[in-house]
Amino acid sequence: MSHVFHRMPRQAYPVAVGGEGAYVLDADGKRYLDASGGAAVSCLGHSHAGVIAAIKAQLDALPFAHTSFFTTPAAEALADLLAESAPPGLDHVYFVSGGSEAIEAALKLARQYFVERGEPQRRRFIARRQSYHGNTLGALAVGGNLGRRTLFEPLLIDVEHVSPCYAYRDQQAGETAQAYGERLARELDATIERLGAETVIGFVAETVSGATLGAVPAVPGYFQRLREVCDRHGILLILDEVMCGMGRTGTLFACEQEGMVPDIVTVAKGLGAGYQPIGAMIASSKVYEAILAGSGFFHHGHTYVGHAAACAGALAVQRAIAEENLLARVRELGAGLASRLRQVFQHHEHVGDIRGRGLFWGLEFVADKAAKLPFDPALRLHARIKANAMHEGLMCYPSGGTLDGRAGDHVLLAPPYILEEPQLDEIVEKLGRAVDRSIAEIRGAAAA
Ligand code: PMP
Repeated sequence: MSHVFHRMPRQAYPVAVGGEGAYVLDADGKRYLDASGGAAVSCLGHSHAGVIAAIKAQLDALPFAHTSFFTTPAAEALADLLAESAPPGLDHVYFVSGGSEAIEAALKLARQYFVERGEPQRRRFIARRQSYHGNTLGALAVGGNLGRRTLFEPLLIDVEHVSPCYAYRDQQAGETAQAYGERLARELDATIERLGAETVIGFVAETVSGATLGAVPAVPGYFQRLREVCDRHGILLILDEVMCGMGRTGTLFACEQEGMVPDIVTVAKGLGAGYQPIGAMIASSKVYEAILAGSGFFHHGHTYVGHAAACAGALAVQRAIAEENLLARVRELGAGLASRLRQVFQHHEHVGDIRGRGLFWGLEFVADKAAKLPFDPALRLHARIKANAMHEGLMCYPSGGTLDGRAGDHVLLAPPYILEEPQLDEIVEKLGRAVDRSIAEIRGAAAA
């Protein structure tokens, strides 16, 4: 019997024992094409020799040195690289062990910023419905994924939620993308006015929505307008790029494509590419300097902050992304994936929307395409697609829509940047069979 309870009730999962490029191998020798990078993590696949060698070298030299005593060449070099490649002004890097920790650090840094400036009455965050920022209590509070947060609500900090930017469902007929973005900016503005700007710390959003909606980019101009609203009210803009950052959308930071710069950005999954657990919060000089001029240090910390082996692994990952010219490859492969997805699924009677950017794509499934009606959540279409895809030897990341019925089942595709062209065909062929078999199962269940 397994004593691991990552999943309850326990399911008979295949046992992963090996990795070869974009494939994971199980104990029976079956190969799974990792079309979702796990959960948008494994951007270099599962056997990058350079990254593995860099981690081994760090382990041989020194696995860990506590940051109360030391910094390390790996942490310094990785922070330099991130500060140099981040949008202007984002110069100060704080390493943690994953995405939720990065968000927690961002929320606390933002709060401390205002306390240092003599504005302790600023205590609230505004975030978006149908969003995900992590599973620790602060991250869960800013997240708007009802399925994940409802049970814990009495323990969560008070966060106001506004609409996400979700053109497929919320852009009205006859409304231009610009007018839609403008409407959302006005909603944020009105929310800040209602709460009183003097009580608000910041606005938190995923630059491209990931786990809850499935690779939904914002409409053009949306983030620029939000930046203006935040500036007008003197509140911080925090972008969560835990899933969409580090090249996933074709630029190292997804916000580079939005023509604006946040005050704080978080990254994680593609930072270490799964070779080591690591995340980072990158803060602007404005925020950093205010804290330096105040109490002089950030009131935060974890034992594994700046872990040497994790930083060495992430440094090798980021160097590989640059040296192997992988951002261009993401854009090129992304265009190929998008056209194949459209070819195979655009006219599918149950695929309502195909959206994404770079190598970050989502398919949303609907029972009725014209009415955009989601499937009954009890049918668990997304879970069936995942299971049938695994049967085919394909990994895709499922999500069950939102409990408020505002989104349908979807799957997320986030394959490694090192993919070969023929594997794009393998993804859409296997996914097509998994989708059709899952829908046939649902019809069978309905007819029975
Ligand atoms: N933010 C976003 C946008 C995420 O997608 C996730 C993970 N899916 C997190 C935060 C939390 O990251 P982690 O699971 O590493 O704690």
